[in-house]
Amino acid sequence: MGQITLNQITKSFGDVQVIPPLDLEINEGEFVVFVGPSGCGKSTLLRLIAGLEDVSSGNITIDGRNATEVPPAKRGLAMVFQSYALYPHMSVRKNIAFPLRMAGLDKAAQKAKVEAAASVLNLTDYLERRPGQLSGGQRQRVAIGRAIVREPSAFLFDEPLSNLDAALRVNMRLEISELHQTLKTTMIYVTHDQVEAMTMADKIVVLQAGFIEQVGSPLELYHTPRNKFVAGFIGSPK
Ligand code: ADP
Ligand code: MG
Repeated sequence: MGQITLNQITKSFGDVQVIPPLDLEINEGEFVVFVGPSGCGKSTLLRLIAGLEDVSSGNITIDGRNATEVPPAKRGLAMVFQSYALYPHMSVRKNIAFPLRMAGLDKAAQKAKVEAAASVLNLTDYLERRPGQLSGGQRQRVAIGRAIVREPSAFLFDEPLSNLDAALRVNMRLEISELHQTLKTTMIYVTHDQVEAMTMADKIVVLQAGFIEQVGSPLELYHTPRNKFVAGFIGSPK
């Protein structure tokens, strides 16, 4: 599960093509980082995979199914939003349970899944608090918890740490990497931060103006950047 193939996909807004024909293979369990400067199309690409935008042409296959025929909610993917997407009037427990309640799961099953997610995220002692009574990092973990309970085949993160201060960002980076090692679920992580890309990714996709400049492991990009843009962006001396 969590095998995603992009086959010659394009995306235009009006006359402007922001994603030229693009191919990409994301393997089961991989931690893939889309990195590139602001406006290069990272969020658009993630939204196309999530089904929040429709491709203009080409197709996306998720676990063998043509995604165009599968509505966003049925794709088995969970988008992790920034922590401010939490409901301020609801407890942590209710925030995490929210997608399960929407799906009509019974109370006992909701409780079991919420408590399992809270345990993975070290939130067990905070379940009855409201988001306003938590630190920035804890709030971000609640947002992740809301994705975990859905047991997705892939997690999609769009710059989840950009609101946090530098020290907390380093912590959360480690926590998300650990979570990936625990769950072994495919994760697609969008960032404009090269350090995040280099420290978290199994596979980095370097984007510029909608084009893939290079795909490779952090070491491959560092030692054999394909061009000056990749070299400059990844920060190797070449
Ligand atoms: P990134 O996430 O890498 O900063 P985006 O995917 O948000 O980049 O944007 C890529 C390009 O597509 C930008 O030029 C942006 O202005 C444009 N764009 C994104 N969404 C829309 C939209 N809904 N309508 C028109 N243009 C858009
Ligand atoms: Mg973006």
